[in-house]
Parts: sequence; C-alpha cells; structure tokens
Amino acid sequence: MTVAISDRASEIAARVETFVREQIVPYEKDPRFEVHGHGPTDEMVAEMRAKARAAGVLTPHILADGAHLSQRETAAVLIKSGLSPLGPLACNTMAPDEGNMYLLGHVASAEQKDRFLKPLIAGEARSAFFMTEPAAEGGAGSDPSMMQTVCHKDGDHWVINGRKAFITGAQGAKVGIIMAKSEDGACMFLVDLPDPAIRIERVLDTIDSSMPGGHAVIQIENLRVSADQMLGASGEGFKYAQVRLSPARLSHCMRWLGSCIRAQEIATAYACTRQAFGKPLIDHEGVGFMLAENRIALQQCELMIDWTASVLDGGSLGTVESSMAKVAVSEQLMKIADNCVQVMGGTGVTGDSIVEQVFREIRAFRIYDGPTEVHKWSLAKKIKRDFLKGQAA
Ligand SMILES: Cc1cc2nc3c(=O)[nH]c(=O)nc-3n(C[C@H](O)[C@H](O)[C@H](O)COP(=O)(O)OP(=O)(O)OC[C@H]3O[C@@H](n4cnc5c(N)ncnc54)[C@H](O)[C@@H]3O)c2cc1C
Repeated sequence: MTVAISDRASEIAARVETFVREQIVPYEKDPRFEVHGHGPTDEMVAEMRAKARAAGVLTPHILADGAHLSQRETAAVLIKSGLSPLGPLACNTMAPDEGNMYLLGHVASAEQKDRFLKPLIAGEARSAFFMTEPAAEGGAGSDPSMMQTVCHKDGDHWVINGRKAFITGAQGAKVGIIMAKSEDGACMFLVDLPDPAIRIERVLDTIDSSMPGGHAVIQIENLRVSADQMLGASGEGFKYAQVRLSPARLSHCMRWLGSCIRAQEIATAYACTRQAFGKPLIDHEGVGFMLAENRIALQQCELMIDWTASVLDGGSLGTVESSMAKVAVSEQLMKIADNCVQVMGGTGVTGDSIVEQVFREIRAFRIYDGPTEVHKWSLAKKIKRDFLKGQAA
C-alpha cells in the first residue's frame, strides 16, 4: 500500500500490524471462536484485549488525552487491525463500538463521557447502537424516518417503548445508544445494559460471524431513563446520527480492506504453490488475472478511503463522499473476496483459512450502513438537484 501518512500513525499502524499478525492470527483456529457462530466468546475477547493492552495497541486510534487520530491516520491503523477478522475485536477498533466511541467523543456531556465512554475506550465494555426496527412491522430500515420506537417525558425521566432488530452486540453489551421519536423528532439515549426493560427476544441467524453477541431482535417496554441520559437535545437525534455516519461507514471500509488484503495474501500463496496442468496456478492466465485485478482493486479502495478521509479531516461531514466510498469499496471488496475464494478452489469455501469468512462478512457489509442501492438513489437525487440548480443559475 502506498498512501503517505504521519510518523505517529505509521508507528502505531506498524505496531498494530505486528500484533495482529503475531498474536491474533493464531486465535483464528481457537475453538472458542465458532467460525459459523456469532463471533468469539467474551472470555476470548477479554484475553485478546489483555494482550493488546500489553502490546500498547488497545484502542490505538484514540490517544491518551482522549483526542482522535485524524481520519487519514485512523485509516492507516484500522486497515492493519483488519488483517484478521479478530483484529478489530482485539484492538477495540470494531463496529459498532468504534462508531459509538466517536459519537460520544463528539456529542456526549462530560458526565456522560465519564460514565459511558470511559469503559468503552478502556476496552472493558462493549456497546450497541439501536436504530433499525423489524421490517415485518414496517419499522425503520433503509428509511430511518419510519422509526416507530417512541419516547415521552415523565417528570425527570423519559419512558421508551418499541422494538428493534439487527442490534449488533446487544447480547453482552454494557452500553446502549437507543434511538426513539419524541414530539420534537428523533432522540438518542444512553443506557446501561442489561436492563429488564430491554428484552432480547432472539439473536438472528446471520451470514457473518465476527461480531460477538450477533445481531438481536429486541423488545423495549416502558424503559425509564433519567433526563440526563439523553444525548444532546430532544429532536436532534438524526443530526447526531449524521456525526457518526460518515466516520462509521469509512471505518468499515478500512477494516474490511485489511481483511481483503490478507485474503489476497492467502490466495496468492495458494496460487503460487499449488500446481495444476504442470505449472503453478498463478501461471495460468485465468488465475493470474484474478489476482492482478484484485491488486488493482485493493489499491483503488485504499485511494477512495484516503480521499474520503481527507474530506472529513477538512471539517466536512462528508456525507456524499462517504456514501460514494461505501458503495465503491464494499462492491470492490465483494469482487476481491469472491476472486480469492475462486483462486483457492474447494479450499476457498472451507473454514481452513479466513478467506471463506471474509467473503461472508463482506456480503453483509453491502447492506449495513446503507445498502448500495440506497446510496446510489441518494446520489442520483443529488445529481438531479445539482443539475436543476445549474439550470436555474
Ligand atoms: C450484519 C448487520 C448488522 C447490523 N447492525 C445494526 C446495528 O447494530 N444497529 C442498527 O440499528 N442496525 C443494524 N443493522 C441494520 C441495517 O442498518 C439495515 O439492515 C439497513 O439499514 C437496511 O435496512 P433493512 O434491512 O430494513 O432493509 P430494507 O429497508 O427493507 O431494504 C431492503 C432493500 O431494498 C433496497 N432499497 C431500499 N431503499 C431503496 C431505495 N431508496 N432505492 C433503491 N433500493 C432501495 C435495497 O437494496 C435494500 O437492501 C445491521 C444489519 C446487518 C445486516
């Protein structure tokens, strides 16, 4: 990879890479990590995090004084943490926590940071973000304005009722960020988990397997939270969601780029050592071209991430740019992962390497944080707006 970056980010990224390759890759074969289950056990996560702490790479994108690395610097570090699907969990750079920490770092009050953010940065707790609702009941999904979860003020408290779906890591999380609608509009609340008023109905059986706790369907029934647990102001919830949106989209791109870089390494080793029809696979043009196309696409993904990160570092919310990056990177990574599986033949679809898992994970990535079609639809609306504005001028 080629993007030039600050000395401090290069140094952190190098430490993260060494840590992930030397200490975390061996965990990929640990029986506590059920490759087709819902990620590693919390015990295994705690063990990996103890090692990350000792290696000085726990929550490496947030500095000792609480400041964040720039987005370009974050990219250098998160790509390395993604070299194993377990790396982000070990380094505490994973979703949804990384995005949640970013949001709290930018919007939470000092008291809220002390209570809810500190344990997350210390890697002692996991968090969950509650926005999506069951599709069968007509709740929020691609269109967040369809939100049905409601909240109303009752003295010094808010009372929340509703149902949520696909809530990553809710099972086992200690901190929750819940979105609900008041008379003013969307609101966000910080809650301690578990809470008897937040009942996990079931954990969905999904294609991916890197996120502890999986993705839950949840009933929230008369949840009472004190007024100081509201994040910001009533009715401003979608504004805060925008703060989280672009960096969270981009960090998914960073981590999964790292995983695809590793998948390409594994597929390359296979193609260079496995023989068929009298020569190594890579010398057959059909195989060599797949790896060559992957190399080109990996570079394109890195550049797209770097460009978007620069836009965010310039102070913009980067909503359009991160939308474009999310589509371009997730679609390219899908093709890269598919090529890696194909290059490796039958071995590619087994759990003998991470290639099969990366393929499954990227499939889900094309849907969460906005399906490809929603981003394109939104971009098309902007293209039309810009055209009409140009005509009017
Ligand atoms: C693995 C995983 C983890 C997740 N984690 C969380 C989480 O932690 N918290 C949370 O709140 N949510 C989470 N989600 C939910 C995720 O954000 C939603 O799945 C996503 O927003 C899409 O909503 P939906 O599933 O209801 O799809 P729908 O809204 O039903 O859309 C279905 C399909 O319709 C198409 N479509 C929709 N709108 C348009 C349009 N305007 N133009 C063209 N096509 C369109 C798209 O192809 C889309 O895939 C997660 C989802 C997955 C798969």
